[in-house]
Amino acid sequence: MCPGLVATAAFHYYRRAMAMLTNVSVSLGLVVCMASSISAQGRPPGATPTPAELSGEWQRHRLALPMSPLVTHEVVARELDRLDARARNGFAGRPAGVFRREVIGQSVEGRPIWHVTIGSGPMPVLLWSQMHGDEATATSALLDLMAYIDRTDPGGDHRWLDRLTLHIVPMLNPDGAERFQRRNAQGIDINRDAARVQTPEGRALMALRDRLSPVVGFNLHNQNWRTSVGRPPQPAAISLLSVAYDEARTENDGRRLTKRLGAVVRDALEPFAAGRIGRYDDEFEPRAFGDLVTRAGTPVLLIETGPWPGPDEQADRDLVRLNFVALAAALEALASGTVAQADPTRYERLPENEQRLMHTIIRNARVVVDAGVAPFVGDIGVVTSRRVVDQGGTRTLVTQGRVEDLGDLSVYGALVEVDARGRTVTPVFDPAAVPGARVVVARGRPTRTPIALGAPAAFWVLEPLEEAGSYRLVEVLTIK
Ligand SMILES: [Zn+2]
Repeated sequence: MCPGLVATAAFHYYRRAMAMLTNVSVSLGLVVCMASSISAQGRPPGATPTPAELSGEWQRHRLALPMSPLVTHEVVARELDRLDARARNGFAGRPAGVFRREVIGQSVEGRPIWHVTIGSGPMPVLLWSQMHGDEATATSALLDLMAYIDRTDPGGDHRWLDRLTLHIVPMLNPDGAERFQRRNAQGIDINRDAARVQTPEGRALMALRDRLSPVVGFNLHNQNWRTSVGRPPQPAAISLLSVAYDEARTENDGRRLTKRLGAVVRDALEPFAAGRIGRYDDEFEPRAFGDLVTRAGTPVLLIETGPWPGPDEQADRDLVRLNFVALAAALEALASGTVAQADPTRYERLPENEQRLMHTIIRNARVVVDAGVAPFVGDIGVVTSRRVVDQGGTRTLVTQGRVEDLGDLSVYGALVEVDARGRTVTPVFDPAAVPGARVVVARGRPTRTPIALGAPAAFWVLEPLEEAGSYRLVEVLTIK
């Protein structure tokens, strides 16, 4: 006999997170006994999907969204409307009512902040994204996740719906998202407003937490693209934090739960991002939502999306995919109870984040920063900034590379490495010159755009010719 009833009873015991870690054997029994029929994916219903399977599910079911920095509040509204319309005829194969939506507040500029509820299980789970308006990756992942739940009923046995109640706030800061800026329209960093709650967005989130008392929360952000992990520095694609609730960083059942969830996320992402998963220092921040929500009794796992190599659209897709796999694996572990088996040291032993990544490093060049300045052998580090501009009603992501550092940059990593050994790298002295041209780097002819900290990242890459000061232009290197 399947111990389904035992498992259901056990999930009531779960209702406070501390009970969660005692139910391993029951959950395992449940998983094993459901192996009697095989799903379309070749997986027995109820079996835990592998990371590769979750990635495949994302590929199959993801929505046709613009790249995440271009997902506006209007796009979120449209997708929620669609889900709402589908949900009227049932959601995830269930009768109507499994998917519910409400407005929990208005942004400073009057945009509605939505709260979507999915499922009716005894374990409320809160997920919110984009409290920083220019941190958009997880909003796309949450929209994809909702579509995935509707279309597939994860697990094939309604266990997400029966055991969890998901409370999803996609895009907490719609005014910031509209401007692609961190702060809300008052100029406040909402994630430093958890104590005073002077922002309507922060008030809405805190009131929702107090109303629901979720057993766990997921606070979803993007981190600086200079964030690195390990040696040599790798891009920190995803960084995790089991959030502290006091200065002493006391470990309690809630923190043990978020550490186990951190371990689940690490294991789910390693097939795609080995060596690119980091951990934040868990210093207590008395103004932040994660910290105060954890202190209020909802332990929070912070998931920060970071840098990833490749063209913007491809990198964005890869990062949304990582977010989806992370969240789906974490929810699956909560719904199946397998989180109890996760080893918290898999989280604790993640390397800590550092800020040692550049977008591009041109290494070992003979660098001439301006005509008349003595050359040196060294590296040029470039970082990029991103903004969204509205061009005649069409939003576009614009990136701009700037020189961040010069000299010995051997301790830094980069998304793009350029080996310029044997080459001379200079400013663009003549915008009209094309590769192959013979150029002269003359003394006493300074340019208005020398290679300097903060300058746009545009360079000539040169090969010396026999005549002193004379070169062949190999490449005009512009980093955007
Ligand atoms: Zn953030």
